[in-house]
Order: sequence, then structure tokens, then C-alpha cells
Amino acid sequence: MKTFRLPRSDTFDRLHDLARERILLLDGAMGTMIQALPLGEEDYAGTGSGSPCPHPTDLPQKGNNDLLTLTQPAAIEAIHFDFALAGADIVETNTFSSTSIAQADYGLQAAVHDLNVAAARVARRALDRATAEDGRPRFVAGAVGPTNRTASLSPDVNNPGYRAVTFDDLRIAYGEQIRGLIAGGADLILIETIFDTLNAKAAIFACFEAFAEHGTRLPVMISGTITDASGRTLSGQTPTAFWHSIRHARPFSVGLNCALGAAAMRPHIAEIATVADALTCAYPNAGLPNEFGQYDEGPEATAAQIGEFAEQGLVNLVGGCCGTTPDHIRAMADAVAAHSPRKVETHD
Ligand SMILES: [Zn+2]
Repeated sequence: MKTFRLPRSDTFDRLHDLARERILLLDGAMGTMIQALPLGEEDYAGTGSGSPCPHPTDLPQKGNNDLLTLTQPAAIEAIHFDFALAGADIVETNTFSSTSIAQADYGLQAAVHDLNVAAARVARRALDRATAEDGRPRFVAGAVGPTNRTASLSPDVNNPGYRAVTFDDLRIAYGEQIRGLIAGGADLILIETIFDTLNAKAAIFACFEAFAEHGTRLPVMISGTITDASGRTLSGQTPTAFWHSIRHARPFSVGLNCALGAAAMRPHIAEIATVADALTCAYPNAGLPNEFGQYDEGPEATAAQIGEFAEQGLVNLVGGCCGTTPDHIRAMADAVAAHSPRKVETHD
């Protein structure tokens, strides 16, 4: 495939070299950190504090966390900075929902390019500040979420043949997002929280198209999410089937995030570690949500389980998803420091 004949980006080999030396740290959750801030509608829209949204609409924006990159950039930069100083080598952009498909809920399809460019730049700024303090290299991962639609399944039980989105709709929307992330300076692309492998394949295809235009290839991280108790994705795949469905992308890493806490994720990440000839990556939630929908597993408890993943040789990268804070990342960094990364012969 011609994607693999493209020259590698500057950071490609540096990341591979670092990952051979030690277990790398991702950051923790952006969403639950934002929820902890006292932000109202006017703060989200940037009309009460911060900078006004350059694409004003009449729709309410509270809850549109990605918009805060444009309207409250200092708050987003501070969260990135805290995660970086806590030990994250790779920090994710605030772009989980920065596609025209997801932003349609807020009438902000026109803002997508700006959201992605600005998010990569805000993250870069925070990481450069952290590196100025401690000299450690850090990398910006352009976060690509699943969108709020699924290409494989019908949302309408009475009309099983219906699909709310097509592969091409997704390919085009992801392409716009990924071009913005690259233009803003993202070092790698992280396709995450994959509940539908067909959506992820559209994102992978969009990466390949964007890399060809850009003339270089960035590392791609791929992270699925297990949503049922029998250990399958929403579109019904086991971890092994998921790996074989995305293996052609020659990902920098493959793994799992969200939906489960570390304890419930363990057998599934172990399965991926058995089959995948790529680096493995686990970033679970801070346990399972409590009756109020909040995540209350503390840093030491999460880190102890992540440390056990490392001790067993299951992982090359670790981090946190919903409910994890800079303290969780700091505790994880301590927990994995003494352990070697999983040994794997990669092919890229
Ligand atoms: Zn999560």
C-alpha cells in the first residue's frame, strides 16, 4: 500500500525508540477534568469570559467540551500542562468530538478545522512549557473519537437495514478533522473509544488519505472499547477479531480504553497482547461509575492494577480515561517505572 512508502514523520522513530526503552505514559481524562470546572453556558460560548466563539450559533453550547479550546484556551492548556508534569509523555488534544458529524449537535460544523488546528497548538504549547521545566520530550496525540453515529448497526430496532451514517460520510468528516490536527502540529493520531470497527476503518482510511496529501506518515494509535460483559465491542467483535480488523493499518499501538476500569479490562488487554504484533496500550477509566455516574477509584487503586499489567508484561503504553486525574497519572508513572515494556517484534 502506498501509505507505507511515504517517508515517516520526524517523531516516528523517536517514539519507537522511547517505547523500546520504557513504558510510555498517556495523559488522563479531559472530559471529567472539564466537568470539575465551574463553567456555564456563557463560558462555553465565550461571551461571559474567555474569547467569543468565532462561529456563533443560536444553539446552546454548554457541554460542548471541544469548543473550550477556542473559547477558554487557558483552561484547556492548564489541564494539558498538569497531565504533562504528572508524567505524561503523550497528551491527547481536546478533539474527541471535533468532527462535522459530532459538532452538528451544536451547529458548529463550520468550526471543525479551527477546533482541530487550535487544539493541537494549545496542547503543543502546554507540552513545550512542561519540557522547559524538566527537559523531557513530549508528544501531541490528535484525538479522534468514534462520533455519535455507528456505520455498522441500525439505531432503529424496527428498521434493521437503516444506517444513520455511511463509511464515506465518516471518511470525509474524519479527513477534515485529521487534516486540521496535522496542520496544527499533532505528532501522532489516536483513534480511540472505538465501539464500531467500521467507523474506525473510515478513520484509518482518512489518515492514509491525509498522510498522502501531507507527504509524510504519522504514527497511528488505535484503541477500542469493550462494551459488554462477554468482552466484545458494540459491533460484536472480540479483542482478537478487532485486532485482525485493523492490523492492516500497521498501528504504532493497539489497545483498549474507556467503558471498563482496569480490573475488568485486564483479560481483554491480555488477549490483545497475545495476538498483536504492535505495541499495546491500556487506558482504563477510574473504575466503574458509581450510582451517580461518577468515577471514584483513587489514584493508588488504579495505579496498583496498571502496575500489575506492567509486571505481567502486557503493556507498552498506559494512561487513564474517564475519571482519571493528574494524580492518577503520577501514581501510574511510579507504578510502572520499575517494569520493562512488553517485548514485541513490530513490523513498522
Ligand atoms: Zn472513558
